[in-house]
Formats: sequence, C-alpha cells, structure tokens
Amino acid sequence: MAKILIVLYPDPVTGYPPEYARDSIPAIGAYPSGATLPTPKELGFTPGQLVGSVSGNLGLKDWLESEGHTVVVTSDKEGADSVFEKELPDADVVISQPFWPAYLTADRITKAKKLQLVITAGIGSDHTDLDAANQQGITVAEVTYSNSISVAEHTVMQVLVLVRDFVTQHQISVDGGWNIADAVSRSYDLEGMRVGVFAAGRIGRAVIERLAPFGVQLSYTDRFRLPRDYEEKYGLTFHESIEDLVKEIDVLTVHAPLTEETRGLLDDELLATMTRGAYIVNPARGAIADRDAIVRALESGQLAGYAGDVWDPQPAPTDHPWRVMAHNAMTTHTSGTSLSGQARYAAGTREILEDWFAGAPIRPEYLIVEGGGYKGTGAHSYAQQPTRTHDQGGQ
Ligand code: NAD
Repeated sequence: MAKILIVLYPDPVTGYPPEYARDSIPAIGAYPSGATLPTPKELGFTPGQLVGSVSGNLGLKDWLESEGHTVVVTSDKEGADSVFEKELPDADVVISQPFWPAYLTADRITKAKKLQLVITAGIGSDHTDLDAANQQGITVAEVTYSNSISVAEHTVMQVLVLVRDFVTQHQISVDGGWNIADAVSRSYDLEGMRVGVFAAGRIGRAVIERLAPFGVQLSYTDRFRLPRDYEEKYGLTFHESIEDLVKEIDVLTVHAPLTEETRGLLDDELLATMTRGAYIVNPARGAIADRDAIVRALESGQLAGYAGDVWDPQPAPTDHPWRVMAHNAMTTHTSGTSLSGQARYAAGTREILEDWFAGAPIRPEYLIVEGGGYKGTGAHSYAQQPTRTHDQGGQ
C-alpha cells in the first residue's frame, strides 16, 4: 500500500463548500487536438465542485483510502516544520497543483527516499527539479490539455483588460465617479494591433485562434515551426527568436514552459527593444520575466501594461511589487483552476493514479519524465530542442 501526499491550496475563507453560482458545467467532447478528455474508471466528485482546495482533495481521498492507501492532504508546504516536509520522507506519491506548488527541490527529492511518482494536477511541472527526478528515476506526469483552454480564455481577457484599460474604468464606476476623460485617456481598440505569441503550444495556439477574429496581426516564435497551412489560416508571421518577435509587436503573450532557456528572458535589455507602450500578458510562469525590470518598464512608460497570473514564488509575498505596480491587471494564479479546469485535471489525476496502481502505462501525453529521461510531452516541450522545421508543430 502506498502513501500519497497531496498538497492543495487552502479552502475558501468563507468555508467549504462554497455557494456555487451555477448548478453544472458544460460537458466538453474532446480536446482541440482530438485527444480524449481524462478517462478514469470512476470520479470521486461532481464536475463543477471546488476540488482544488484541501477539503475537495481532488475527489481522491475516499477512493484511495478505500483501496487501503494512506492519504495526507495539506496546504502547509513551506519550511522545515511544514506538514509537506515532515510527511515527504516516506511518501510514495506526491500530488500538487502549480497554483500552490509543492516545490520539490533537489534537496527535498534526495530526502524523499520512497518517492516514485510526482503528479502535477494541472500543467507545468517546473516546481519539481526535473534533473533530480531523472537522477532518482522518479516519474513526473501532468494532466496535459486539462486547463489549456481555461488559460487561453484568461489570456484573451487580460489582453482586452489591458488594452481597453478596464481596471481604471471599473474603479471609477465602483468609486461613484463618471469622469469619462480619465476613464478613456489610456484606452485603445485591440483591432489592428500586432500581437506576438511566445511559444505556440496548446495554449499559444488556442490564444492565436481566439484572438484572430479581433482583426489583429499575429506573429509567433517557437522551437517548432507550425505547419504552413496553419500559418496561412491565421496570417501568422514566424520569427526565429523572441528577440526578433518582440521588436515588431504591440502585445506580447507568453506561453513557454519555465526552463533554463526561458528563465529571466523578459529583462531590461529585451524590454528596451519593444515598441514604446507595448503590453505583456504572461500566464506561463512568473520567473520568465525579470520582476524588477517589468516594474521599471511600467514606470518609464516603455510598457503600457502587464498582466498575467503567475508569480515567483507562489504564493507571492504580500509586498511583491507586481501587486501594486502601475498599469497592472494581475490576478493570483487562477487561470487554470476555474471550476471547469479543476474537473478535468482532477479526473486526469485519478486516471494517472489508476494506471499507476494497475501497472499500466501512463498516457504518453501526460508524461514529463520517466525512467531517467524526458518522455512524451516532456520530450517535446521541456527537453533541449535544436530543430525548427516547418511541419513539426505542437502536439
Ligand atoms: P505545451 O507543451 O503545449 O507548449 C509549450 C510550447 O513551448 C511548445 O510548443 C514548445 O516547443 C515551446 N517552447 C519550449 N521552450 C521554448 C523556448 N525556449 N523557445 C521557444 N519555444 C519554446 O504547453 P501548454 O499547455 O501550452 O502550456 C505552456 C505553459 O503554460 C506550461 O508549461 C505552464 O508553465 C503554463 N501554464 C500555466 C497555467 C496557468 O494556470 N497559468 C496553466 C497551464 C499551463
């Protein structure tokens, strides 16, 4: 029998369960790639319930305990005295979500002598030291595609929020004002703007497809060039590098994983090459941007706005400058954990566990590392890649 350590964000301060705004969520047929949604044998929750917090436990606790496993669910994850650190040494499986990541550093992985499987309930496994996981032969899996559309929708929302200057306008309304001149002095139409997409994987392509009807000029860069007919369909211009991409755009959206190649990419030097008054929306990972360079660029006017929902570290400290910097429309890390997204990644987490306990292979699209190397989605999206051929698009 296994010990499963599940790290989730805390319950609502107003109590669990919350009062739901709607009675159900729409049933989605398949992912845009044609891949099937998660296929667990059973679900321990009703889709639409809040399962991403401790009491929701991804709908896993009762099932796992009924199978004889030991389950620890906690939100206490930082420091030597945390429940996470204390329970880790004899855990067989660790599950956490990027919104409230259980950071599995090389040091922690060394202490986790029994650890065999790490599941990211969501997408983005950079909170696990993947090299250390490889060295220790640990399998890392995530629920690929589960919340890609959730994030793409949030991205489109934040692009519009920045360009239209929604936050200022909403605040004037809340404050009882009616000063139209103040409300519109930084407000533009998105139509006609040049939008650059950094990394055209699942989320990047969903953003392209959703922004195209706004009448924008679209360009992108990725390690893999998209198929020619896809580029033609969306009028996409390809750039070899992010340096080339950012020179020619008004809005940059960021959808690359956090790796040693992408860490700190959005720095003073790169930002200085952008058109004055450009906007950035980054729902990928906070550490892809240089925290203080973003603040400086907003203060100088080089950037007209910055939004996203990812921070470094998470949760961000209360005095993190992005909370209060000029012209920001940040949210906490919520885009991928809508109630709709939760239903898919909780189901995918159960599917991975069912396969693992049955000794069956985990779907390749869920795999990041296995058997000491990058596999499946991990080989495509995380491992070093030199190629840029036309027809090796995203999965
Ligand atoms: P994906 O694997 O489908 O796409 C990632 C793309 O990035 C791939 O096409 C890959 O070739 C490209 N890429 C990787 N390194 C690159 C580099 N150095 N230069 C150019 N391109 C590079 O992943 P996805 O589902 O689209 O997710 C992308 C990222 O978004 C995740 O890694 C995660 O960090 C983040 N994410 C955030 C949330 C959220 O809630 N905010 C949710 C899901 C995913």
